[in-house]
Amino acid sequence: MEMALATDTFIDQTRFEDKLKESEARYRLLADHCSDMIASLDLEGRYLYVSPASVTLFGQTEDDLIGRLAIDFTHPDDVALFPAVIAQILKEQGVRTLTFRRRHKDGRYSWVESKVQGVRDATGAVTQIILTARDISERRQAEEDLRVAATAFETQEGMVITTSDQTILRVNQAFSEITGYAPSDAIGHKATLLKSGRHDQAFYDAMWTKIAETGMWRGEIWNRRKNGEIYPEWLTITAVKNPAGEVTHYVGAFTDITKRKATEEAIEHLAFYDPLTRLPNRRLLMDRLTQALVANARSKRGGALLFIDLDNFKTVNDTLGHDKGDLLLQQTAKRLISCVRKSDTVARLGGDEFVVMLEDLSANRNEAAVQARTIGDKILAALNEPYKITSYECDSSSSIGITLFCNHGDDVDAIIKHADLAMYRAKTSGRNSLCFFDPEMQQAATARAVLANELQTAVETEQFVLHYQPQVDGKGRLTGAEALLRWQHPDRGLISPADFIPLAEETGLMLPLGLWVLRTACRQLVQWAAREGTAHLTVSVNVSACQFRQADFVERVLETVDAIGADPTKLTLELTESMLIEDIDDTIAKMGQMKERGLSFSLDDFGTGYSSLAYLKSLPLSELKIDRSFITDVHSDPNSGAIAKTIVFLAQSLGLTVIAEGVETELQRTFLDNHGCRDYQGFLFSRPLPLDAFEAFAAQDFVDTCGVSGPMIGSDHRN
Ligand code: C2E
Ligand code: MG
Ligand code: MG
Repeated sequence: MEMALATDTFIDQTRFEDKLKESEARYRLLADHCSDMIASLDLEGRYLYVSPASVTLFGQTEDDLIGRLAIDFTHPDDVALFPAVIAQILKEQGVRTLTFRRRHKDGRYSWVESKVQGVRDATGAVTQIILTARDISERRQAEEDLRVAATAFETQEGMVITTSDQTILRVNQAFSEITGYAPSDAIGHKATLLKSGRHDQAFYDAMWTKIAETGMWRGEIWNRRKNGEIYPEWLTITAVKNPAGEVTHYVGAFTDITKRKATEEAIEHLAFYDPLTRLPNRRLLMDRLTQALVANARSKRGGALLFIDLDNFKTVNDTLGHDKGDLLLQQTAKRLISCVRKSDTVARLGGDEFVVMLEDLSANRNEAAVQARTIGDKILAALNEPYKITSYECDSSSSIGITLFCNHGDDVDAIIKHADLAMYRAKTSGRNSLCFFDPEMQQAATARAVLANELQTAVETEQFVLHYQPQVDGKGRLTGAEALLRWQHPDRGLISPADFIPLAEETGLMLPLGLWVLRTACRQLVQWAAREGTAHLTVSVNVSACQFRQADFVERVLETVDAIGADPTKLTLELTESMLIEDIDDTIAKMGQMKERGLSFSLDDFGTGYSSLAYLKSLPLSELKIDRSFITDVHSDPNSGAIAKTIVFLAQSLGLTVIAEGVETELQRTFLDNHGCRDYQGFLFSRPLPLDAFEAFAAQDFVDTCGVSGPMIGSDHRN
């Protein structure tokens, strides 16, 4: 019985071991074919068993691993994860999951996910540790990519993803901020939700054709926000395709360009419009004129260009200030607009120059001229109405030049130049008037251009001489001379200053020319100072406004006088009223500096400008020169007589000398003498003389005053 029992027990034991072997074989088979690595470790963490997957996953064989510590194959940064996990396994049952980097045979690391578990004996004590290891590098990479993609999706740009039939699947935060649609408002709806209605079907057709052909479209598009506001956006649509090349999704990325558009528009406005009046500027006018010429050629209609210049804008600006000047220009712009049709153009070229372009006039030149004149008259009248500028009321007028452009071959620059020339003619023929361009003006302008060229050469080669016109005192004795400039033109002979000085002033040549005059006069003073009969003579030199306005005018004059060694007390500068009032403080300062050095000043052409007693008193003048226009009929016209008398009286009361210029007759001289004028210049005594003739005149005067003959009052020295 015992035996039988023992045998039974043996059989059971054998059967049990067989079963165990069988099951172990089964598990080993499973472990051998499992793609994850399976391993068992002792409690110190050494490999007792590793499945063949260790070769495929990590390139390591049993020989490489058995007996080695598992943490020797773990990334140093991840080693710290193990003790806690092991401690837990020893403490309680259950599977733990660990993610760490495990080294390959070749030294590189892969991310692995491990399930770790304890093997317990009958008493429940852990005898071994079983673990599996799976390479999860790819999965981690995919997760990371997704995270990056999700972050990228939440950018500043609005993003929308749609299905291939444009149903919205996903939008980002920026999409909601820009469009005002929350994700729940948008998802499930068609992307056409955003359509503004500003683009026609052709626009969208072209867009989708482009996407179909190239996989994407990029451009500006107007869309509508949830609140109805239409806004511009910069949009890129990209098609997403599956491996078969079929579109599965569309991705739209856009930025709101409202601000950029506004800036662009402001910049464009600046480029084409005058900021003060908001009228088109020269550039836009040229554009429109070019277009008008093309349109006229097609329609066979006529057009006209009116060049408008305000007559006294400079005075308003100088007296009331630039801010008031600006207001005047703005009002002028408004008045001009009110005189023309909407389709006509009113432009401002700059300063006080405006241009009106009339289109769609009669094809018949005469009729077109009548139409243009009608508008011109209307503008003259409108601009002649008094202006109310803040609390000031001021009068203004304008001069208008008109040119017609009826067709063929007119060129834009020429048209503007013609209108400008005609305006110039209107201005010189008495202001507040209009004048049509005619080809003679062109000839005059061409002649002027030729003259300007010649004048340039003349300055470079010094084709000038000074003539000297005697100035005499009450007894007829020579006291000095006015230096008067002449141009010795190689072909045209002597040219008088009235014929070239305005041109010299406009072309900037007056500056070198004025210096030449001053130098020559100073040299003359030096020569005369050395001779007995001429040592007392003074010289008056005319100064142009443009010279006087130069910042370094005073230095230039003093430098010249010093360098040549002329006696400054013998030098008088002749100035005119208009040039002095422009910046009265600067004028006084400049004159003061020169007066300190001994120079004197004479106010030329006195009585013709806008004299004001206030500034007359404050200027360091020494002489008033009565203008010739009052002298001519001083004894026959009571007005002229009264003016001359007043000027003499004024000069005396201000302590200034007074000289009458343009005295031609004994009657005039007597009248002036009777009223207290003691200095004269005029044909009665002598015309302006070339140097040698003047010196002969001076020699004769010297003989006369020294008593060889009587004084020369009344004797006529005209030559
Ligand atoms: P202005 O300074 O008033 O010079 C007097 C002008 O009157 C001179 O004309 C002179 O010849 C003329 N004149 C003098 N006495 C009589 C007379 O009894 N009867 C008549 N009918 N005329 C008389 P001119 O030389 O033709 O000079 C004209 C103007 O040219 C000058 O007027 C002056 O403004 C300017 N000018 C002359 N030389 C210069 C110069 O060197 N620099 C500048 N900036 N201007 C000059
Ligand atoms: Mg003069
Ligand atoms: Mg004069």
